Amino acid sequence: MRLVFLGAPGVGKGTQAKKLEQAYGWTVIATGDLLRAAIANNTPLGQQAKQYIERGELVPDALVNQIVAERLQGLSDFILDGYPRNLAQAEMLEQMLSQPLDAVVYFALDTEALIARLGGRRICPNCGAVYHQIANPSKAGDRCERCGTPLVVREDDNPETIRNRLKVYEEQTAPLIAYYESKNLLRRVDADATPEEVFARLLQALGLQ
Ligand code: AMP
Repeated sequence: MRLVFLGAPGVGKGTQAKKLEQAYGWTVIATGDLLRAAIANNTPLGQQAKQYIERGELVPDALVNQIVAERLQGLSDFILDGYPRNLAQAEMLEQMLSQPLDAVVYFALDTEALIARLGGRRICPNCGAVYHQIANPSKAGDRCERCGTPLVVREDDNPETIRNRLKVYEEQTAPLIAYYESKNLLRRVDADATPEEVFARLLQALGLQ
């Protein structure tokens, strides 16, 4: 399956993408994760992307399009998590694909719930596992239950940057909902539930269960 996951920051796209990858073996391409890895490794891409991510702004299309094009090469099944994030990226994606998308899943959640989720998020800087202090705490306390690394707050999960990311989402990314609806690709999933319940809804929305 060729899928795009759409939705505001904090809605749980990454969690659901990883679950689907585990269940079906489809490759997740998460642009945010790739950019954070580039920053951690201090690559030229990371050096260019850092300032934008820290401000909660979108990294320039040319940089992101190139990472996605490289990752998509030769893949017949994939889940794009966090891309496209504006109309220009959506149009570029169409050009990159040799076969059209099967579906775009839109995860819906109200703003208050998004802010609560982003505020409690903790990530493992080593293996990328994602936890939530209340909804999904690590069994190893303040360390990653998979690899034992101390958990951290994502740098862009501070209140000021969160506000900006939500604004950028509303202005630039939310118009993609109507865009993909008009192409008959959109599947809506209500994300106001536990990760397990949202996953069941996702499978249903994709006709997999
Ligand atoms: P995420 O992990 O998806 O929340 O992404 C974190 C940050 O990475 C975003 O706030 C952007 O600064 C940057 N980013 C991720 N994906 C994209 C994209 N498709 N286009 C531009 N910037 C992106």
